[in-house]
Amino acid sequence: MHTINFNFNCISHAMMPSEKTTEGLMRIAIVEARNGMRRGDGGPFGAVIAKIGSNGKATIVSKGHNSVFVAPDPTAHAEVVVIRKAAKKLGKEKLGKDYLVVATTEPCPMCAGAINWAGISNLAYGTGIRDAKKFGFWETDVAAKKILRKGKLKNLKIVSGVLRGKCLRLFSEYEKIGGKKY
Ligand SMILES: [Zn+2]
Repeated sequence: MHTINFNFNCISHAMMPSEKTTEGLMRIAIVEARNGMRRGDGGPFGAVIAKIGSNGKATIVSKGHNSVFVAPDPTAHAEVVVIRKAAKKLGKEKLGKDYLVVATTEPCPMCAGAINWAGISNLAYGTGIRDAKKFGFWETDVAAKKILRKGKLKNLKIVSGVLRGKCLRLFSEYEKIGGKKY
């Protein structure tokens, strides 16, 4: 697991939850991804949004999976799905610095843009964009951190490689069931 901290403006004290908590959230995102692909809703990608308390405790706000086929909607990536759900549930378009997106794969440029628009400062992901590309997905190879750093997010925290092995396995499972690459 690799953590990148961009604490340029250390005003907020919101922190990334413990490794154990982040992994727990990732397990939920993985279940989402698996359920979604088995149902044929979309690709092998899942995500969770959690609110982080001052004690580092995480409360799940939304969870979801890639739904590009079932919608059909090319923008229905897991991260966009959970951001839409969370914004609707909370009744606000800016979620804020106390929120965390956990995604099985690194957010693509569209999703990194959505995270920025949602004002979410914390991100944890498993596999990288390059892994998805290697499996044949139509990825744009621009690192999420590159996009997020250009935005206005304060106290940006990014953790990569969370349960990477389990997230990678989703790709081979998807291949095994003959999932469509898009
Ligand atoms: Zn995306």
